[in-house]
Amino acid sequence: MDFSIPGPFQQKLASCRTLLDEHVLPLEPRLFSEGYFKLQPALDKARDAVRVAGLYGPVFPPELGGAGLSLKELGLLSKVMGRSPLGHYVFGCQAPDAGNIEVLHEHGTDAQKEQYLAPLVRGDIRSCFCMTEPDNAGSNPTVLSTTADETDDGWVLNGHKWFSTAHDGSRFAIVMAVTEPEGPRHGRASMFIVPTDADGFEHVRNIPLFGHGGEGFFSHSEVKFHDVKVPKDALLGPRGAGFLIAQQRLGPGRIHHCMRWLGIAERALDLMIERAATRSLGDGVLADKQQVQMWIAESKAEIDAATWSVLAAADKVEREGFRAARVEISAIKYLVANIMLGVVDRAVQVQGARGLTDDTVLAFFYAHERGARIYDGPDEVHKLVVAKSLLKGARA
Ligand SMILES: Cc1cc2nc3c(=O)[nH]c(=O)nc-3n(C[C@H](O)[C@H](O)[C@H](O)COP(=O)(O)OP(=O)(O)OC[C@H]3O[C@@H](n4cnc5c(N)ncnc54)[C@H](O)[C@@H]3O)c2cc1C
Repeated sequence: MDFSIPGPFQQKLASCRTLLDEHVLPLEPRLFSEGYFKLQPALDKARDAVRVAGLYGPVFPPELGGAGLSLKELGLLSKVMGRSPLGHYVFGCQAPDAGNIEVLHEHGTDAQKEQYLAPLVRGDIRSCFCMTEPDNAGSNPTVLSTTADETDDGWVLNGHKWFSTAHDGSRFAIVMAVTEPEGPRHGRASMFIVPTDADGFEHVRNIPLFGHGGEGFFSHSEVKFHDVKVPKDALLGPRGAGFLIAQQRLGPGRIHHCMRWLGIAERALDLMIERAATRSLGDGVLADKQQVQMWIAESKAEIDAATWSVLAAADKVEREGFRAARVEISAIKYLVANIMLGVVDRAVQVQGARGLTDDTVLAFFYAHERGARIYDGPDEVHKLVVAKSLLKGARA
């Protein structure tokens, strides 16, 4: 595997870093105090600067209006964009829209693409993805209570979802609902496109994480469907293919999250170093203490290990596809999540009480990224995937 970064791409990385430092990081204090929605005009301006630099939508193919980067290039770019909680949004590749774009691109009809995919790629609208339900274990999405019943002229949806990432500003939801209750376990559900202003679509609340966020902020909506009527052509992909589509969506989603977490870990390490070097203890600075030096050294080695593991998984995906790289993706999902959270925790400790405030980005990361060990499959489920794969040969 060639680890060198070609000159033109190094320039793109440098340009990404400049855009982030000049247009995105200055917005962070306002994100924490005013919330996300009030920042929209400033975020739109930052997006314009990214568009001018040709880096908007890095992950999407040029025919969709994206920059058409390879997965490995996206990994390196994400390590820069991920430094800020606003980075991926400003560069036009934030979850869950990026995953929804892939699903619509792969499975949407021409009409669905025109109505939903095009404005989503342009960044004119946002969307959410409704799979998880409060009353069923999200770790096993073959068990769902939300139903879609076929009528003469369409479908009627009923159910209750939560952690439908994005917020009450989403224009439409991709919803996984049971259409074949008697079908095989992996063939019971289908995907639907549901406008969020449809009659019977109830936005219950934006869910705060550890008291962080909520109304007006980035969030994870709880929604209910009360006899929501959608036309026949709201079905996205084949009937009964909901589970398959969700899995296809999650493969890229997981590796994209791992790439973003590299940026979070590196920003946390930078904040750790900066504080250690400047915080006077009276008889020297924090950086004089061996324990702090150990944390810095361990974090550097872990972030490097995480980076190479993510790039190696991306390399396998590029050569053999997501399915073939399933085990590698599961392994980096828990490896990188835990490394990132460990580095953020050390950075908070080095900051002392300041680390708990919104004077740095660390408290936001601490609250919002604990979910990394849970969403898109909890650690335990991914470890089972890896262990089962390694044990298969030995058991046989
Ligand atoms: C920040 C965030 C964003 C999210 N975004 C979305 C979204 O956009 N759309 C959406 O539909 N959902 C979303 N989710 C929901 C997420 O997919 C689920 O939380 C996840 O699948 C786990 O499901 P659960 O919370 O119901 O936990 P459960 O399934 O109830 O599991 C609870 C715990 O049990 C353990 N466990 C589960 N299965 C096993 C097993 N087989 N072996 C051993 N231990 C096990 C794990 O420790 C797990 O954390 C999001 C969640 C978070 C936190």
